[in-house]
Amino acid sequence: MLLKSLCSQANILTKKTAVGLARPVSSFTAMQRRLNSTTTTDTDTFRASEIRKTPNDNLKELVPNQELVFGHTFTDNMLMVEWEAKSGWGKPVIKPYGKISLDPSASVLHYSFECFEGMKAYKDKQGRARLFRPDMNTARLRRSSERLTLPSFDTDELTECIKELVRTDLRWIPSERGYSMYIRPTLIGTSEFIGVGPSDRAMLFVICCPVGPYYKTGFKAVSLQATTDRVRAWPGGTGDSKIGGNYAPGILPQINAVKEGYHQNLWLYGENDQLTEVGTMNCFVFLKNEQGETELVTPPLNGLILPGVTRDSILGLAREWNEFKVSEREITMSEIVKAQEEGRLIEMFGTGTACVVSPIRNIGYQGKQIKVPLDPKDPNSQAGPLTRRLNDTLLSIQYGEIEHPWSVLV
Ligand SMILES: *Cc1c(COP(=O)(O)O)cnc(C)c1O
Repeated sequence: MLLKSLCSQANILTKKTAVGLARPVSSFTAMQRRLNSTTTTDTDTFRASEIRKTPNDNLKELVPNQELVFGHTFTDNMLMVEWEAKSGWGKPVIKPYGKISLDPSASVLHYSFECFEGMKAYKDKQGRARLFRPDMNTARLRRSSERLTLPSFDTDELTECIKELVRTDLRWIPSERGYSMYIRPTLIGTSEFIGVGPSDRAMLFVICCPVGPYYKTGFKAVSLQATTDRVRAWPGGTGDSKIGGNYAPGILPQINAVKEGYHQNLWLYGENDQLTEVGTMNCFVFLKNEQGETELVTPPLNGLILPGVTRDSILGLAREWNEFKVSEREITMSEIVKAQEEGRLIEMFGTGTACVVSPIRNIGYQGKQIKVPLDPKDPNSQAGPLTRRLNDTLLSIQYGEIEHPWSVLV
């Protein structure tokens, strides 16, 4: 376990370096030395085998599928485990969902010591619960946590804890395709002093909500406003970590976009207006490039992009299909504008756990409207053929209709 956890930490560092984050070799080795010198004791992680369960015996009434509003209904129970610098992790508990009590000086409330995850549990035709690539989420939470100097943990142990919570709240997973139980692991700093420094206390908790499909009546393609006066992320920043501090500042540009009649904003970066993310989704462009090749493009993991599980899965599927070029590369607004003008833009979509894919129909940019094609064969269609196919394939894997190693039985 110790070796494995050190290896995977080293792996993460190597990967980050490989994608071109400017980090001098000396500081890289210094960091590795520090990681290697960390002694792992029993309290360096919590253990799923030590969960204490005092589940809710006052069960709530289930909400009918049609009445579910994303993120508003919570299940009967939650998982919680606390950490202190001097004694390490405590034992995880599964207990009734409820309010948490924090000291007003808690570091999460002042300096945003907060990171989180978003994943889902699905029910298959046989009524069994399934998770989708949960190891990706728990590893990402650990990376976010380490970025904030919040405590590390064994990611396999967290995955097992989440499975136990899912088993406890199994009745909350809706069984209809498209419906699922959204899982929100959260890690906060709870140190009780006002001072900008590492938190000496932390709390990890996991809550769950039953959710319906993002698009209840089929796809609804979105219209985006390209944000040119603000940026979401910058080189060396934290845009590649799922930390709370990244999200509140993104609401204002989003509201401005909505005020001007768009659904969402499109985040750009740099003087050449590189596309980075669609609201809080990763971004994909399907086009015929200037060389005449059909190409699926998504921005690279260069520190400006949140490394989405859906993004990675779509890249994996598309590469496996091997029917067109698949690229992780920079793509600018001028390339989009030119492709659109020359009739080479085929489809665009955002990706994320909540929606899987979100087709894009329009971008407002520099006072112009860029019309993005949906389905050339069907003027009423709200999604292009590739967007649909990726969505269908991912859903089939998530609901266990296609046997696939990404879908993990709970
Ligand atoms: C969570 C998130 C995504 C999508 O990641 P998934 O793992 O696919 O859900 C994309 N962009 C941002 C900014 C995010 O926070």
